Formats: sequence, structure tokens, C-alpha cells
Amino acid sequence: MNEIVTQSLESLRGVGPKLAERLRNYGISSVEDLLFHLPLRYQDRTKLTPIGALQDGTEVVIEGEIALVSVSGGGRRRSLLIKLQDGTGIATLRFFHFSMAQKNALQKGDRLRCFGSVRRGAQQAEMIHPEYSRSFGNSENEDSLTPIYPSTEGISQGQWRKLTDQALLILAKNPPTELLPKRKNDYGLSSALRFLHRPPPGADLQALRDGSHPAQLRLALEELTAHQLSMRELRAKSRERAAPILEDRQGLTKRFIEALPFTPTDAQHRVIKEITTDLATAKPMLRLVQGDVGSGKTIVAAAAALLAIASGYQVAVMAPTELLAEQHRRNFANWFSDLNITQMWLAGSVKGQKREQALAAIANGEASLVIGTHALFQEGVQFARLGLVIVDEQHRFGVHQRLALSEKTTGESRAHQLIMTATPIPRTLSMVAYADLDCSIIDELPPGRQPVGTVLIDNQRRDEVIERVAHACRDGRQVYWVCTLIEDSDTLQAQAAESSYAELADALDGIAVALVHGRMKAKEKDAVMSAFKAGEYQLLVATTVIEVGVDVPNATLMIIENPERLGLAQLHQLRGRVGRGSAASHCVLLYQSPLGQQSRARLQVMRESNDGFYIAEEDLRQRGPGEVLGTRQTGLMEFRVARLPEHEHLLDEVQNIAEELQVSQPQAVQPLIRRWAGDRQAFANV
Ligand code: ADP
Ligand code: MG
Repeated sequence: MNEIVTQSLESLRGVGPKLAERLRNYGISSVEDLLFHLPLRYQDRTKLTPIGALQDGTEVVIEGEIALVSVSGGGRRRSLLIKLQDGTGIATLRFFHFSMAQKNALQKGDRLRCFGSVRRGAQQAEMIHPEYSRSFGNSENEDSLTPIYPSTEGISQGQWRKLTDQALLILAKNPPTELLPKRKNDYGLSSALRFLHRPPPGADLQALRDGSHPAQLRLALEELTAHQLSMRELRAKSRERAAPILEDRQGLTKRFIEALPFTPTDAQHRVIKEITTDLATAKPMLRLVQGDVGSGKTIVAAAAALLAIASGYQVAVMAPTELLAEQHRRNFANWFSDLNITQMWLAGSVKGQKREQALAAIANGEASLVIGTHALFQEGVQFARLGLVIVDEQHRFGVHQRLALSEKTTGESRAHQLIMTATPIPRTLSMVAYADLDCSIIDELPPGRQPVGTVLIDNQRRDEVIERVAHACRDGRQVYWVCTLIEDSDTLQAQAAESSYAELADALDGIAVALVHGRMKAKEKDAVMSAFKAGEYQLLVATTVIEVGVDVPNATLMIIENPERLGLAQLHQLRGRVGRGSAASHCVLLYQSPLGQQSRARLQVMRESNDGFYIAEEDLRQRGPGEVLGTRQTGLMEFRVARLPEHEHLLDEVQNIAEELQVSQPQAVQPLIRRWAGDRQAFANV
């Protein structure tokens, strides 16, 4: 804002070193931060509600005369009951914890003013443990709604109010510079802040709850604009350095595509073309490829890799798990077998002499294609001429990891980056979280794919489901049986899978059943997967380790145990393991009843749709951005005011304003970013 508002907290009345320390734990280290610490919700103590008009579930102030004081029940269930009347009706105040002194101080005929939430009792409306004080008929109503601040411990609501009172005074005396272009009938920054800290009587509580109040929208607009600008700066910065020009003079890509057993879809062609154009310029590419499960992202990656290799540069392909990296390794080795390309494998499990050899081949440039896990980007890995980095399943990485990747280059130039997502990301989210990237979408599935028919079946009908598995296997099809657990524990998951494995192997006579879980060694997992792919097993019992990437076109049935424990994106990923060939495929969501309302709603979405983009939107609505991006822990999407998807409708305007500012008020850009960024991860901190 300006220097005054960034003054230190200790300058406020009542703030000593101890409270200042506690505030810092909330990320508050200046008056400005305090102003941005907005209430979570509000109470309305600005008006009295007649007792006769009390409504269930509301939080209100009532006032009346005590008609009766009594104690009911005995022992632990004893409670103090007070009947309060105001001429419009009678309400019961109920206290489970009370002292005799408290009881004796309340006499018939006294007037009380109470605040609490109302619920319907047997005969009358009740308030349980209301706040109360004596009233003499002339009590003042509060002149604003009462803010309730996010507070876990150490700071009381009273303290928050005193602190923000002072901060608001300072704000009023030192109005901040308005950095957003003026819109008509709009709140300014300070009026919006003031409103949200102290909404006047009659303010629209419902709108405030939904985040749709104009004052909230004003702040969200500014915050999202600041975020957008920080991403743009990052983007500009990451394109400052030159990147190698990659062109396929040897025609490798063409040879590769012609040798494929299928024709790429129009969407695949289009995306390959977008990448080709990017790579042919001397600016580092930063491109995100989104495509639904099974849309064929891997050949797009392979085509890009060939462009770099044909130009004499190295390519690094990184996947999140060894299983998936392995699969890429095998695919690429297979596709490139006639092209005379030296491929190297580097994962955590590669140790000792093997690792030394790999590192040497990477460092002297002999290896032109290096595939592996994040081990690729550890200390000690030096590339001779890295031209392109391909990251699969990128949603697990944040902005900062992306930066670190492109730093991993030699000399002055930067490597191009191609990022592929496992699951489609709602447009809203990619506009915000990936604003530093260009985006390509593969919006078409290979021909002949059929939607996976999905049914919900109660685990009580497990026997029927096992019968169905037997049927499919006898028809020459292959089946996945996936075990899930809430706990993120490999050991427990493995146990669950082992017991289902034992049960199924026992029930399914003459059917070859295999087991794969996260506790097995990479080699063992790989052996099982390969054997399954080769058709040596008909049924694969697995934990969610098979979630990503695994490709077995002959598998046409998937059973997911306890699907209610998983998020939509993960279910969609899992289900994407079937329906990869041309035969009709099915997925059984074998749930444990009783099923909660939310879980049911989630599973219904899976039944209704096979469209990853639609499912992702639903996931965002149901679970919020942190979960969907898998970045809840990193705080990537923590905004102060802005909420997604609620404020999605602001995003087009945000783009416009950001552009307008960059062009006509570039001096406002840095202050705006600084005002909102603080030390938060949501911003790229450029
Ligand atoms: P994802 O986008 O989920 O990573 P993959 O790249 O693993 O998908 O591709 C899924 C399957 O579809 C693979 O077996 C792949 O060989 C096949 N495939 C990819 N493109 C096509 C195409 N144009 N026509 C037919 N099959 C294709
Ligand atoms: Mg894939």
C-alpha cells in the first residue's frame, strides 16, 4: 500500500513481542498483512429478533424478561433452564455447565440480552449456552456485523477486533494508492477492506458467505490480477535466455510417425505442429499438453524428443514413478529401435557402477535420450547438451520446480520444456496455476474407443462381481481388481491387496491371478506388469500404483474396491486403464455401504461421464483447487480473498486488466504484485 501501512506491528497498541510473534505465525508481520487477514464469517448482533420470529439454525440477538428459572435432570444430565419472554413468545435458554452462583444471580423478572444459535426444542425455540448480559432496556445495538477471524489459538476474537480496529484507522488516514483502473460503481481497495472487516447492518450475509459480495469481488479481482502479473513476469523472465533451435533436418519424426501401427489423430497432429513451431525458435518453449487419459500424449512426447535428437541435442524424459518411467523407456525403445538412438535409464534404483556409467554417458553427450524419475534432476547429473525436458504427469510439480528444471542446462542457453498432464485440468485452474505456460489440448481420442460403462455395486453383492470377473477371464479378456485405502500407507495398502488377492485366487479356479503393490521392488513390479501385459495373467490385483500410464489394451474390466475413498481425478485415471482397445469395457465401483451423500454424488459423476475435462470441473467444485492440483501442502493455490471456482467469472477481466496495466501503467505492476504476494507460495516471487 504505502510506507505507513507497512509499518511494524509493534507500533500498535497492545502488541508486544509475544503477540507479534503469534501474529507472525499467521503470516502477519505488518499492518498491511493485518488488513488482509479477513474475517472467516460474521455474526449479526446489529438487531434484535422478536422471540416469536426465531428461526431454526440462525444466530441472533434476543432480549426479554426471565419468566422462570429451574434446574432439570440430575447428576451428569443436570441442566439450568431459563424461560425468557418478550411479549411475542417464550424461548428456553439451556446451560449444561453452570455454577450455583450463576443460577442464583438470575431471578425471575430480570431482563437479559442473549446471543446464540437457535434450534427447535420440544415446545419452544432454544438457545444452548448463549452469551448473555443483563439489559436495562436501553442496550445499544452493535453498529456493524461482528467479524469472526480465522484463529486457531493464542489470539482471541476480541484481540483480533482491537487489532483490526487500529489497522482500519491507520488505513483511513493513509488511503492506499489505487492500482487497478477505476471501474464504475466499484469499491476502492480501502472501502472494500473496511467493508469486509466491519460490514454495516443489513449487509448481505448470504453473499458474503458465498464470496459473491461486490467488496469481495473487488479484492479478488485485484488479487488475481496481481497473481496473473507475477506469472507473466515469470514467463517473461524464463524466456529471456536463448534456447537452441531444434529442427528435424533428418526427417526422423516423419519416419517415426510413418512406422507407427496407427495414424495419429488430428489433435495429435495439431499439437505436434504447435511444438514443432515452438522448438524452431530460439526462445525456450514452456508448453503444457493436456489430454484425457488414453488420448495418446506419449507419441506427441516422442515426436518432440526426436526433433531435439535430430538437431544433435539431448532429451530428458521424466515421470513421477519408476513404473511409469519404465513404460516410457520400453515404448521409446520400441518406437525408436530403427533410428539408432542411444537411450539411457536413470532412476533412484540405479546405483553403483551402473549409475556411474549412466552419469558419464549423460555428461559426455553419448546418451541422446535419458529416461527416468526425478533422479534425473538431482545433484551430480550433468548434461552435455540438454535441449528438451519432457515431464509427464506434471500436476505434482509447482512453479518453482518448473524453474529448477529449466536451469538444468549447459552454458548460456536454456532447455525447452514440455509438460504433460495425467488428468485434464479445469480451464479455470490452468489459467491461474499455469499462466506461465502455453497450453496445447489433445481434445480427441483415437478412433474406435468406446466409453467405459460404469456401474455402482454394493460390496454385499461381491460374489456376483467375482462371478463377472470369472466370466470376462474365460472370454479371454483381462481384468484389473484395484484395492484402495484411505491411509496413505504402502504397508496397509499392500495388506489389503494381499487379502483380496488370496480371496480371488481361491475363488477363481483355473484363472491366473497376479498381485502388484507399492511394497514390491521395482524389478518385481515390472516383472508382474510385463507378464500381465503379455497375457500370462488374466487378473491383476493391484493397489493404486497402477493409477498412472499403464497400458494393456486387452484389459476390459476393472473392479475398484472402496471407490468412495478416492477423488474423482484419481478414479478417472484408474478407469482409464481399461477401454484402451476397441472392445467394450466396463468398470465396477464396488462400494461399501452406507454411502454418504457426497460420496454418492461423486460416484454418480463417474457413472454419468467419461469426459476427463467434465470430471475435472466437478472435482474442482467438490474438493477445491488445492486437492485437484495436488498442491495443498505446498500452498500453491492459497489466496487471501480469491476463491476458485467461485471467482472463475472474474478471470477474463483479470487477463484484460493485467494486459492494460502492463501496457499503460507498467510502474503499477511491481507494487501490485508486492502488495498481494507477501511471502506466499501462491505467487511466483519473481
Ligand atoms: P495417455 O494420453 O493417457 O498418456 P497413451 O499415450 O498411453 O495415452 O496412449 C494410449 C494408447 O493409445 C497407447 O496404446 C497408444 O499406443 C495408443 N494410441 C495413441 N495414439 C493413437 C492413435 N492415433 N490411434 C490409435 N491408437 C493410439
Ligand atoms: Mg500417459
